[in-house]
Amino acid sequence: MTHDPSTDQRVAFLGLGHMGAPMAANLLAAGVPVIGYDVVPAAMDAAADAGIPLAQDAIQAVADADVVLTMFPSGQHVLEAYRGTDDAPGLLASAPSGATFLDCSTINISEAQDAAREVTEAGFDAADAPVSGGVVGAEAGTLAFMVGADDHVFARLEPLLAVMGSRVVHCGPAGMGQAAKICNNMILGVSMVAVSEAFVLAEKLGLDHQAMFDVVSGASGQCWSLTTNCPVPGPVPSSPANRDFQPGFAGALMAKDLGLAVNALSETSVDAPMGELAQRIYADFASEWGGADQDFSAIIQSIRERSTSRLPRR
Ligand code: NAD
Repeated sequence: MTHDPSTDQRVAFLGLGHMGAPMAANLLAAGVPVIGYDVVPAAMDAAADAGIPLAQDAIQAVADADVVLTMFPSGQHVLEAYRGTDDAPGLLASAPSGATFLDCSTINISEAQDAAREVTEAGFDAADAPVSGGVVGAEAGTLAFMVGADDHVFARLEPLLAVMGSRVVHCGPAGMGQAAKICNNMILGVSMVAVSEAFVLAEKLGLDHQAMFDVVSGASGQCWSLTTNCPVPGPVPSSPANRDFQPGFAGALMAKDLGLAVNALSETSVDAPMGELAQRIYADFASEWGGADQDFSAIIQSIRERSTSRLPRR
């Protein structure tokens, strides 16, 4: 029998939410020793039902960990957990020497770099490894991991990440995993708005959805937003538009990721009006229009709605 290096590493899995719980379950199923913890009791109950061994608190979870894996909502959660508070010691003060801090949350690039610096200053190794693929990918073990880490840290973590994902890309040093994710999702947000605007224009002009799809999918407008996540029902039967825009990739997450992109644009002084506009469009879609829990391709419905109330120019 061949030796599987992923099972050598004891993993403290912190954050057992929509993504974390199925990721932890996949590690366990592959024979990786996992101990989980979440601050929310309902998440702990669900994880216990799924057979995930649990610690009483974060400190107990990381006591014997080789890898401290976090899957949290935001960078603030990650930094607070690492640093601790006046009342409770953080993970940096609690993990055993030799541990590697692996953050799979989607957070600001600058926060990921701050976290990695503090991890390194505390004597540990750090990696950021945000994912794409959503809950479906987390459950199926087919996530894509974008990893920011030094070469030796990446080499150590790759077998573990390969248990939870089907694609693991080393993007560079700390923060570059987040950078890759944010750049991709900025393209995705802009391209979905562009494809949706074009479909609404086609509708107004009397151009059939299928005819437009047949032309554009083989022409220079071709992109993932059209050929995989097509915002109109029909041309791509598996796209969320065929099932009342159930996500998929929820509008709230697109709004969050574009917010991170805009923060990065501002920190780097990049002039990117398309990315900034996409961020405003999706922030409004998620918070005002009711698109937070719908697939992000439902943006087409908000465009249609605004277009019916707009008078044509004379
Ligand atoms: P979630 O809110 O369902 O889960 C996060 C969990 O972290 C919660 O259960 C929360 O209680 C827990 N948590 C927060 N602080 C904690 C702490 N200090 N200790 C222990 N637990 C703590 O979020 P999710 O959908 O699982 O997403 C997690 C991350 O993955 C986010 O950064 C998100 O942007 C990213 N992501 C999500 C998806 C998706 O489809 N859901 C896709 C790609 C990336």
